[in-house]
Amino acid sequence: MTFKDLGIALPILKAIEEQGYTNPTPIQEQAIPILLNKKDLLGVAQTGTGKTAAFSIPIIHHLHNSQEQTRGKRRIRTLIVTPTRELAIQIADNFTAYSKHTHIKNTVIFGGVKQSRQVNALRNGVDALIATPGRLLDLMNQNIISLRDIEFVVLDEADQMLDMGFIHDIKKIIAKLPKQRQSLFFSATMPSSIVELSRTLLGEFERVTI
Ligand code: AMP
Repeated sequence: MTFKDLGIALPILKAIEEQGYTNPTPIQEQAIPILLNKKDLLGVAQTGTGKTAAFSIPIIHHLHNSQEQTRGKRRIRTLIVTPTRELAIQIADNFTAYSKHTHIKNTVIFGGVKQSRQVNALRNGVDALIATPGRLLDLMNQNIISLRDIEFVVLDEADQMLDMGFIHDIKKIIAKLPKQRQSLFFSATMPSSIVELSRTLLGEFERVTI
């Protein structure tokens, strides 16, 4: 199985090749077809399995194929929520690498630093936002970020987010998402609290376990 066999758009294939990836990892092989099919996904997988590419590549593919040709302002069409600043930066770096030959733009926001640079990046317009829960909610409450145009949402490392006490933030964020969307939920473990949370995000979903 190659990335080409999966039916990914050419500019993204080129970027994947430049990353030096020759074959999809098991989670990529399983998740990418489901996500290209616009289905919701529950992924039980840890960091190190290639899960960032598994969710980023299909999302970039959809964003690229349906990018508006107008010169109008970009809308935040994708939201990726992850527990820590380090993970957020890592995801953004990967997302940028996979989308480098497309016109898709992303930015990353996290707490612990002044918001002004992050707000400026948002004002310039992005198609995808990678965020930690606290700063995201903060900017939503200031009406700097709206989730009204979200088409793709990823909750990454859900069990870690719960352990860090983000449950209420996550629920508030989910409540603001448009009903019509593709949702992805990733967790390394699946205790009942996580199963419950996944039900509030996902519609009819497919499950992939690595
Ligand atoms: P992740 O699980 O998303 O944190 O990815 C772990 C590491 O695997 C990252 O450094 C990726 O760049 C790398 N990676 C992801 N997909 C592939 C692939 N198909 N082939 C080789 N390396 C990969």
